Amino acid sequence: MASQNEKSIQKSDSSNVSKKKRKSLSWMTSLRFRWMSQISFFVLTIYIGWMFYLFVRYCETGGATVFVPRPPGVEAFLPIGAFMGLKYFLGTGKVDPLHPAGFIIFAAILLTSFLFQRGFCSWICPAGTMSEWAWRIGDRIKSKFNKGVKYWVEAFPVKLTCGLSMISTPIVALMLLDIISFASFGSPNMKFIYPLMIAAIIIPFALPRKIWPARVEDSIARAWKYSILAFFAVTIVIKMPAQQLEIMFTNVPFMKVADVRMLKFFTDMSMLAAIILSIIFVFSFFTKNYWCRYFCPYGALVGVLGWASVFRIVRNKKTCIDCSKCTVACPVHIEVEKKNTVYNPECLGCYDCVDSCPVDDTLDMKLLGYGRKIHYAVYAGLVVGLFVIFMNTARVTGYWYNNIPLPEYMERISDLDNPKYEHKQGEFKVE
Ligand code: SF4
Ligand code: SF4
Repeated sequence: MASQNEKSIQKSDSSNVSKKKRKSLSWMTSLRFRWMSQISFFVLTIYIGWMFYLFVRYCETGGATVFVPRPPGVEAFLPIGAFMGLKYFLGTGKVDPLHPAGFIIFAAILLTSFLFQRGFCSWICPAGTMSEWAWRIGDRIKSKFNKGVKYWVEAFPVKLTCGLSMISTPIVALMLLDIISFASFGSPNMKFIYPLMIAAIIIPFALPRKIWPARVEDSIARAWKYSILAFFAVTIVIKMPAQQLEIMFTNVPFMKVADVRMLKFFTDMSMLAAIILSIIFVFSFFTKNYWCRYFCPYGALVGVLGWASVFRIVRNKKTCIDCSKCTVACPVHIEVEKKNTVYNPECLGCYDCVDSCPVDDTLDMKLLGYGRKIHYAVYAGLVVGLFVIFMNTARVTGYWYNNIPLPEYMERISDLDNPKYEHKQGEFKVE
């Protein structure tokens, strides 16, 4: 039987390989094309954030600073509001009057994922962009480390996340089953749980790889983001009555300044939040797509919806030379070389595997049932195009701007320290 190397050499004799090499001399690759898209959306996000900061400052100072209109795109940073808007739309057929742009952006993300799997994550999302840039810089740093240090800087974040997920995921499950609640954490019986929590954190570090493989660790760590998604989906989309949302959008002061509260989260950050975000930031350099892979509830949701998509990475096993380049290139650790068709909810539609494959017509994004390969520019055009069209349609049809007048914003923002704008574990004050 021919060895793996012999098989690779025989298959690499194919003229397809040289054709691909010639093509690779071209400057434009899917990666560079994707970076152009990512940078455009990243700059747009920074611009929106800055405009919103100036708007809030104008309101806080009673109009003493330069006036900038409130950019509705800032509502994209309200994930809980987006789930509420979805439930409100499903229950009443109406669009959230306070954060219509947030709902529209969320709906656009869901639709693009349903049609084109997780293209949103790798071509548009600014959080995905930061995650990706961090690990690409981290890869350069790690190349200077010796093998042992490299292993631990990569493995430590996953092991720790796995241990914490073994604590958080069952807690969320018990809360969703109404077996425990937030109040349970004050119970004296909690002391019996602490040893289990400590054991959960130690297990991933203590057990040898033979009985605790990396893929098990990774799957448990990923369960965290699905538990966050389940929590939002059950508590908001399933359990919350649409009539309650109607009251919240009308009578709850917090809802009217939720976007300003989100801004204050970043500009007046608590020490605890700063420490958690710093840890996630540092881990993102050493673990590929750390935020998207383990925490982002949007990532979990679009991954699940993406199952329905007919756009798939497809490998031609007849021409594949088993070089593993696709697997090495994949930022979410999918063993592309072993799949004929990639049906993995983590697949980002990033084309990195396609770009890395040295053999023509061996690895491509395809429309299932159609057979022809989809060029990355066409795929990007579909993902980004649908997203932009959706947004602009909302703009011209009146579903983009909310109904809060400027004087009301000025009054509320200048009074933001009033206790009526606070909430405790989902309990809000009504006016
Ligand atoms: S399988 Fe290919 S397209 Fe999917 S995430 Fe991995 S590298 Fe990107
Ligand atoms: S599909 Fe993957 S393993 Fe096969 S030739 Fe392409 S890069 Fe190499």
